[in-house]
Amino acid sequence: MTAQREATQSRSGSTELPGLEDLDAEIGPTGRPQTIFPEPSALSGHGPARVIALCNQKGGVGKTTTTISLGAALAGYGRRVLAVDFDPQGALSAGLGVQTHDVTTIYDLLLGSSKDVAGAIRSTGTPNLDVIPANIDLSAAEVHLVNEVAREQILARVLRQVTADYDVVLIDCQPSLGLLTVNALTAAHGVLIPLECEFFALRGVALLVETIDKVRDRLNPAITLDGILATMYDPRTLHSREVLERVVEAFGDTVLETVINRTVKFPDASVAGAPITEFAPDHHAAEQYRQLARELVYRHAVA
Ligand code: ADP
Ligand code: MG
Repeated sequence: MTAQREATQSRSGSTELPGLEDLDAEIGPTGRPQTIFPEPSALSGHGPARVIALCNQKGGVGKTTTTISLGAALAGYGRRVLAVDFDPQGALSAGLGVQTHDVTTIYDLLLGSSKDVAGAIRSTGTPNLDVIPANIDLSAAEVHLVNEVAREQILARVLRQVTADYDVVLIDCQPSLGLLTVNALTAAHGVLIPLECEFFALRGVALLVETIDKVRDRLNPAITLDGILATMYDPRTLHSREVLERVVEAFGDTVLETVINRTVKFPDASVAGAPITEFAPDHHAAEQYRQLARELVYRHAVA
């Protein structure tokens, strides 16, 4: 906006008074004037889905929480969402209140013991939000997949069978850069990186970006980095603000304007097995995830 105003000044040769919007535009936590992202318009039909992998090889940064909360927020805007649990811990399935025992899981689909992808999809308590569950079996998948032909493309082949029915597929990756994550990156159109506003947040991100670059070179030329999402931000601490400043310095506009604050509402929601947007719809944390959903639609990362 500053650049725009400078351009106006140099053209007209005089200093124009800022418009009303400029006066109203508050500076957000990422140091940019805050955009009011419009409510997404209704879709006339559904699919084919854009596939987004939520990746960070660091654990506890908000991948699973973001998959659940963003998925529910997008579902609330009428998008058909499929969340894929791609972590043997099964936290995504649990957080959505979906059982993981005696059901077909993503592991069965990857290994070919079940070919019925549609049959593995479970509905959740949230309309428009479905999930393919995972459980601890998935921890053995890397070992089994190593000797498969086109071992990096197995998840892509599985998901291709159901993407027509959804507007967006969110893959909740495990905290590693191993073969499963490479499968997620190969299946994805875009990547979303949640980054905790804490010490060492940036440590490892270079390696993650390098992995994405390698996947783009060798397996998936069209993959894009959709955004970096700052999570667990505490506006009251200088430390949190400094970390976010550094992240913006390093990644510029790739850092999403939406920032997720730290609040105990998230652990509470996971215990309840419900997305924050339903557990505490009026809490600012729920609004932040709805804002994230609107920003991603605005950025064309989601239909
Ligand atoms: P990951 O999937 O990257 O390992 P999780 O989403 O499971 O991370 O989050 C790790 C823990 O932090 C969970 O207990 C979760 O409830 C909690 N958490 C996630 N986001 C927030 C937040 N914004 N504020 C406070 N706690 C959070
Ligand atoms: Mg997780």
